[in-house]
Amino acid sequence: MNEYYDYLVIGGGIVGVATANALLRRYPGSKILLIEKESALACHQTGHNSGVIHAGVYYAPGSLKARFCKEGVQRTVDFCRQHAIPVDNCGKLLVATNETEVRRMQDLLARCRENGIEVEALDQAQLQAREPNICGLGALFVPATSIVDYRLVTEHMASDFTASGGETALDTQVTAIAERSDHIELTCRQSHTASTDSFSVKGRFLVCCGGLMADRLTNMMGLETDFQIIPYRGEYYRLAARHNQIVRHLIYPIPDPSLPFLGVHLTRMIDGSVTVGPNAVQGFKREGYGRFNFSLRDSLDMLAFPGFWHVTGKHLKTGLREFKDAWWKAGYLERVRKYCPGLTLSDLEPYPAGIRAQAVLKDGTLVHDFLFADSPRSLHVCNAPSPAATSAMPIADYICDKVAEIQQQREAD
Ligand SMILES: Cc1cc2nc3c(=O)[nH]c(=O)nc-3n(C[C@H](O)[C@H](O)[C@H](O)COP(=O)(O)OP(=O)(O)OC[C@H]3O[C@@H](n4cnc5c(N)ncnc54)[C@H](O)[C@@H]3O)c2cc1C
Repeated sequence: MNEYYDYLVIGGGIVGVATANALLRRYPGSKILLIEKESALACHQTGHNSGVIHAGVYYAPGSLKARFCKEGVQRTVDFCRQHAIPVDNCGKLLVATNETEVRRMQDLLARCRENGIEVEALDQAQLQAREPNICGLGALFVPATSIVDYRLVTEHMASDFTASGGETALDTQVTAIAERSDHIELTCRQSHTASTDSFSVKGRFLVCCGGLMADRLTNMMGLETDFQIIPYRGEYYRLAARHNQIVRHLIYPIPDPSLPFLGVHLTRMIDGSVTVGPNAVQGFKREGYGRFNFSLRDSLDMLAFPGFWHVTGKHLKTGLREFKDAWWKAGYLERVRKYCPGLTLSDLEPYPAGIRAQAVLKDGTLVHDFLFADSPRSLHVCNAPSPAATSAMPIADYICDKVAEIQQQREAD
């Protein structure tokens, strides 16, 4: 690590690994270092998600989310085929259970068509025929949705990267970033050791894909930004194994369009199990997955940020309901019984939670789309919300385009 790198990439989640790979393909022979503070890749959002390759139903037409997701589905499936990674193209049903949801379902149908996504509207009888254990007034069937293990996808991307000459530094935490006129200098320390010794790494250009730490990385550089990452826990249960065949598709509720999360769904996992979740509960530790995990620093940062109070005030009722159901299993169960009435409390078994990195602006706006910040020698991915796992490869290409633009601009100035 003593050498000078052409590109430094911080973050060994799927976005960072896909970016390191794409940079190496774009600039063959260049020296690229991928830096990750954990002992393995995909330890945070990428390794704690629903494992769905989303088709792109929900996203505003013309948004980066809609564009990246549509392209990402096919590219993810192709990548998995090339690398013999298991994928199950099980399709997804969005189930409406009351009149309000039927109306919202019509809006989603229109949105699917605007986004060019194949979709079929099912009436009650057609839904019942496809999924005898699911009840609803109607549903949308989206055949392009699939499931996969994103940790495995990331590991394969990382193997491609190192096989092509890229270098990876695990257990390496970046603690400071300095941008000079002719290079970037990172101060790093070895994670998971008592030693506080630091060392520096230099490079020509830096890309930060820090997920839950995205704002801390922009702050380290002194970039002026208007956002902070607020952690929202996504808690799951796993259904008892006797229910592994309870559904043939993924079963989603019709979401409330004013919220960025999709609602508690029944997800067939690639290992054959079925999960229920995730909910969306306020977290008090960005990378703490246990129910009682608390970080003073993370909590104080959040409480001192005006956007947190705006967003909490705006969604107070929803937030309190999420809290109640997170602690009261019967409340959580009701969310899924709405469309799968046969489940009982004893069917819900423990399963690890995930934590979403949600960028929130100072005025309380929840950032729904991808968000970037840059400087003459760096590009920061500030918000990479779901479905960023599905979309990682197109996002990486977009990042490469932006990196090229920034470098051209710098040279022209
Ligand atoms: C509950 C949940 C369910 C989801 N379901 C889906 C789904 O079904 N389909 C889908 O497409 N998307 C889904 N998503 C979204 C998707 O998982 C994320 O958008 C995606 O994984 C983001 O990847 P990332 O690389 O940006 O972040 P991460 O995977 O969080 O990676 C960021 C990395 O940066 C590292 N890092 C941070 N700071 C430093 C530092 N200072 N030094 C070194 N390393 C650092 C971290 O250790 C981490 O490994 C879900 C997310 C959650 C939380």
